[in-house]
Amino acid sequence: MISVEDALKKIFKILPKNGNEKISLLNACGRVLAKDVLAKNDQPPFSTSAMDGYVISDLAPRVGSSYNLVGEVSAGSIFSGVLGNGEAIRIFTGAPIPVGGKRVIIQENMVIKYNTVTINELNGDETFIRKIGSDFKSGQVFETPTVLTPFHLSLIASMNSSEVTVYKKPTVAIISTGDELVIPGEKRSASQIISSNGFGIYSRLALAGANPRLLPIAKDTESSLKSILELAMGSDIIVTVGGASVGDYDLVKKVLKTVGMKPEFEKVAMRPGKPLFAGKLNKSAVIGLPGNPVSSLICTEIFLVPAINHFLNISSNSREVIHVKSSRTIEKNGPREHYMRANYDSLTKLVNVEDRQDSSLLSVLVNSNSLVVRKPNSPQIKKGQLVPTILLN
Ligand code: AMP
Ligand code: MG
Repeated sequence: MISVEDALKKIFKILPKNGNEKISLLNACGRVLAKDVLAKNDQPPFSTSAMDGYVISDLAPRVGSSYNLVGEVSAGSIFSGVLGNGEAIRIFTGAPIPVGGKRVIIQENMVIKYNTVTINELNGDETFIRKIGSDFKSGQVFETPTVLTPFHLSLIASMNSSEVTVYKKPTVAIISTGDELVIPGEKRSASQIISSNGFGIYSRLALAGANPRLLPIAKDTESSLKSILELAMGSDIIVTVGGASVGDYDLVKKVLKTVGMKPEFEKVAMRPGKPLFAGKLNKSAVIGLPGNPVSSLICTEIFLVPAINHFLNISSNSREVIHVKSSRTIEKNGPREHYMRANYDSLTKLVNVEDRQDSSLLSVLVNSNSLVVRKPNSPQIKKGQLVPTILLN
């Protein structure tokens, strides 16, 4: 059995190399930038008026100063002349400042009479001019790797790019295994249960930025496992669920080895999740998750989500651990790292470990928002002592 930390390192090592693709900005939210973006222009590309008002050539005017109105310039147009002393031009927000223009007096502070405008109030030294390049300059670099947000996408658009180069999403094939499983809605015999794990794993991986595929359920026979594995070949990651333990019908590792998987490790010192294994099959990384529903989802959080982040070159590729006070006594831990379902209350700042930790209890997992991490052989924790905790969601 290897430690969680070593298992994660080994998983990172077997991941295939990622490639890039060019996509429209409209599809780029949440994707990871693979190539720097260079601004193709200054922003704003010319000095513009920040307000509706009158532009004058006077930098230090006084209340009572009057100007001859000699023209107008609106957003998208240009005033081709030169603004002289004692002259004003009607200007609107976003319009280019004419040559000679030094300051905009907002229209609320000007009185207009015939062709003359007079200042009746001033707002300190504010010029109401947005200088050329005051947001960013041409050639300025927007650096990788960054998970693109709506703010980034507007910034990149204003740099005059309609496309970005991003890392490709990893393709992940998910195979649930077990004679007892039927999909939701399917007729169930007296000995069968509903296959639930694939749905949570699929959704979590999609949220993490992968391109998952849920394959048909494989039966606990070599031929069924082989034929479903055929459908998974070529995926960046192949995730099997169940059949990884030591029972007579746990054939997944055996079949994977017969089709060429080179094992990287088998069994991890963690709870839940002990049967987890990984290996390399051609270029694909294979990760075998345990079948118990809570085990499969916790292993997804602890191994698959960081693996997706690693593949996508996201720098913070392991789960953040915070230290918070326990609301109760937690007994000393055994030799495996224990990920205990728990609830963290952000008001009291206390974390409360759930009573029932059986790895089949999805209802307990649903009511938990965190995992308390108990290192192997760690001593008893008393109420009020700090415990390492991972916040979920
Ligand atoms: P296994 O790892 O195949 O021994 O499965 C462990 C337990 O998890 C068994 O009780 C299985 O019935 C259950 N199980 C396995 N796969 C799934 C699944 N996809 N959805 C729900 N339960 C499952
Ligand atoms: Mg099974």
